[in-house]
Amino acid sequence: IITLDNVYRIFRMGQERIYAVNGISLTIEEGEICCLQGPSGSGKSTLLHIMAGLDRPTKGSITIGNTRIDKLSENQLALFRQKHIGFIFQSYYLIPTLTALENVALPLTFCGVPRSKRIKMAKELLEAVGLKDRMKHKPSEMSGGQQQRVSIARAFVNNPKVVFADEPTGNLDTVTTHEMMQLMTSLAYERKQTLVMVTHNPELSDYCTRIVRVRDGKIEKIENGRDNGYETENA
Ligand code: ATP
Ligand code: MG
Repeated sequence: IITLDNVYRIFRMGQERIYAVNGISLTIEEGEICCLQGPSGSGKSTLLHIMAGLDRPTKGSITIGNTRIDKLSENQLALFRQKHIGFIFQSYYLIPTLTALENVALPLTFCGVPRSKRIKMAKELLEAVGLKDRMKHKPSEMSGGQQQRVSIARAFVNNPKVVFADEPTGNLDTVTTHEMMQLMTSLAYERKQTLVMVTHNPELSDYCTRIVRVRDGKIEKIENGRDNGYETENA
């Protein structure tokens, strides 16, 4: 479902050129739970942002489904993201003045979903993440783990093809981290969505079908993780 072909992202800093992503080719299949691991500064976030259409490659092509996202105009790309992509940030990025329910319903506004349906869909997702009794709370009235649940609900609410997450559990304790991983992987599994995430935590490899190790902007190694549990066509 996601294909990268010889992708580069080069930052110019005065005379210096930083090859943050240095010629990466990679295919991620539908329904995979793929994690990117590697040292700090190895290019994981840059690569994730490029895959999610939040940043542009300097060179190379990125295809999601049947769409070459590197060929889209800014407007087309923004629309594509709103329809087909969810993103979970380490620091949540919730809107402080909106309630949990309003934060989760917001992406649906951009997709043109009518108000009553938006509320219904957002409520369903908040229930799924265990926040039925926190819908009217603002981010400042919730714990870190609860805020991360809201941001997970928001990423999944428009039923995207792919959900990307950059260190989604970076600010959480061990117990909450495992709860969030269970939550994200089971949401993705139920809906046959693809999940691509960056994590420093080696324990979290157990949740993934594939582990891509990145170093100096290149792929060092790809390891197979657990089976994603989908029955194959003829099984
Ligand atoms: P971490 O694990 O610390 O989050 P990372 O693997 O996510 O690291 P990136 O954020 O992708 O690393 O950065 C890769 C390299 O690109 C780093 O050397 C960084 O300094 C550089 N870089 C990232 N963004 C920019 C930018 N906007 N301008 C210039 N250089 C950048
Ligand atoms: Mg990073």
